[in-house]
Amino acid sequence: MTSRGDSGIIVEPVARLIEELGKLPGIGPKTASRLTFFLLRAEEGQSRTLAQAILDMRERVTFCTRCFNITVGDLCLICQSQSRDQSKICVVEEPLDVLAIERTGSYRGLYHVLHGHIAPLEGIYREDLKIDQLLARVRSEPVDEIILAMNPNTEGEATAFLLLRDLAPLGVRVTRPARGLPTGGDLEWADPDTLSSAMEGRREL
Ligand SMILES: [Zn+2]
Repeated sequence: MTSRGDSGIIVEPVARLIEELGKLPGIGPKTASRLTFFLLRAEEGQSRTLAQAILDMRERVTFCTRCFNITVGDLCLICQSQSRDQSKICVVEEPLDVLAIERTGSYRGLYHVLHGHIAPLEGIYREDLKIDQLLARVRSEPVDEIILAMNPNTEGEATAFLLLRDLAPLGVRVTRPARGLPTGGDLEWADPDTLSSAMEGRREL
């Protein structure tokens, strides 16, 4: 966001880009200004490429019809892969968590992305998440282990508890990554080594 004081001295197209960049997570007004002035100095082609990359991402990327990870087309690259262990499904909150776990290189099973966590105070309930789709997969796919890799915080715990209750009647083994992930944080920020050993040391619920 630009302050009111800037509006008189910065021309509208520049002020507008600063404002838009400032809406992105982790980008404050100073960084937004720096990025804008960098693009202003750089070759025009760079702005064009960036703008096109953003549009392409929005237009072409959708969610996998099986696991709800990001994809271009019907199934994501992980679901398409012949080398993944089809008997394990790691349940995560967001597509970014898939990336975090993939970065460890130590997990070879499949995923299921819930697209959020239970948070009644924020108006996010069970039916807002891809939980029924997960249960349908457990019934129809050759799954023998579900790994609940929610974020190690209150909402993550509540979501895991609910999933455990839903999964119990299906007779599938349910595990959670070992403790050791920084509590209160997000999976995506855990360092790969910690995440890797948490995944390897998972315990049965
Ligand atoms: Zn998929």
